[in-house]
Amino acid sequence: MKRVFLETYGCQMNEADSELMAGVLERAGMSIASAPEDADAILINTCAVREHAEQRVLGRLGEFSRLKARRPGLVVGVAGCMAQHLRARLLDHASVLDLVVGPDGYRNLPELLRRAAHGPVAHTRLDRDETYGDLEPRRGSSVRAWVTVQRGCDKFCTYCVVPYTRGRERSLPLPDLVRQVERAVAQGFKEVVFLGQTVNSYTDGERDFADLLRATDRVEGLLRIRFTSPHPSDMSERVIGAISECEKVCPQVHLPLQSGSDPVLVAMRRTYTVGEYRNLVDRLRAAIPGLALTTDIIVGFPGEGEEDFQRTVEIMSEVRYDSAFLFKYSARPDTRAYRWGETATEEEKGRRLEHLIALQQAISGQLNDAWIGRVAEVLVEGPARRDPGQLFGKSLQFKSVVFAGDGTPPGALRNVRVVGATPHTLIAEPVGAARPEAGLVQIA
Ligand code: SF4
Repeated sequence: MKRVFLETYGCQMNEADSELMAGVLERAGMSIASAPEDADAILINTCAVREHAEQRVLGRLGEFSRLKARRPGLVVGVAGCMAQHLRARLLDHASVLDLVVGPDGYRNLPELLRRAAHGPVAHTRLDRDETYGDLEPRRGSSVRAWVTVQRGCDKFCTYCVVPYTRGRERSLPLPDLVRQVERAVAQGFKEVVFLGQTVNSYTDGERDFADLLRATDRVEGLLRIRFTSPHPSDMSERVIGAISECEKVCPQVHLPLQSGSDPVLVAMRRTYTVGEYRNLVDRLRAAIPGLALTTDIIVGFPGEGEEDFQRTVEIMSEVRYDSAFLFKYSARPDTRAYRWGETATEEEKGRRLEHLIALQQAISGQLNDAWIGRVAEVLVEGPARRDPGQLFGKSLQFKSVVFAGDGTPPGALRNVRVVGATPHTLIAEPVGAARPEAGLVQIA
């Protein structure tokens, strides 16, 4: 067992877990293959949050079964939330599979892969103490380092499978996280993104998320700090104060709303009302100048009627998010809401989703248009995908920006003036001379 191909689906937490797995495998003398055809083992890191995500993985397993028919020694494994969700049932359903490993089994991945070469293996025991805090990930090549500060979730929202697939909430000790950030900076990363299912409920027993932001704000060489996803109920004044006062923490907060209707929020067990959420938005905007807000919304949750849906339309129109992840409700086995069945038809869910997408497109377009003529600070990531003559990066508000290539290297900050916009991208031109050696560019 020498080369392992890793394929990742789902959220940034899964991206970070794949980097963790890659680190574990490399320390065991294995290497990461760049294509499934070159690998001795294929591992798919999966998501179980929506049924569609699981269907995609099952389709992918069908493709790998054809590869395995040509190479019988190939080991095929499924890791992550879908593995935990379906457990050994997956081994029965997909004959191509040799290994099923849940999110708390990555420490032993090399050994599990070796065993799976001799017969099917399942490791899906959840471990209340596993944080992988002592393991070094093999980070991808980007300017941005994912740092998982907390694993699992205690909220048990009634639609969500995560507490069952990732187990109970536990945080890493703050000094370990500061060390991880320092190491990432030493490796050349300029931005860290703290990850947790409810990242702002972080606590290592003595220190909270505000302490973590303040401690890492002092790390020399680090340019930017972001985090995702906070829970509205855990957004304390201490955390708001730290976001607003820490120089490196970007003015951007992803604040999942899920629904604009109080009865639906109660049924979802979201633990806040629309009024409390609205008040939180006001406090965040008052404390953090230039704040960009993004959100998650689900349409068609059991019991959501037309009036409830209209409340969601109202708050979206009022808050005016910079962008939003909009989803149709997907009933997940094991969750509480699953027992309630569906009350909206697929057509109705589709109509509501289309309505919100159109509304959000219009708002994102207007907010991005308002940037035209203004100067934005961009952390350059590299050539733009569509036009390699252009550079791509993210503004402080996490907006995608493209501008004419001027030799600014990845990882440097560049001031640009916005000259055009689409709902998804700001089009800009550099302002003043580039000073990549300083990593910072002054406005002329
Ligand atoms: S806060 Fe709710 S939606 Fe988020 S991971 Fe936890 S249970 Fe799922």
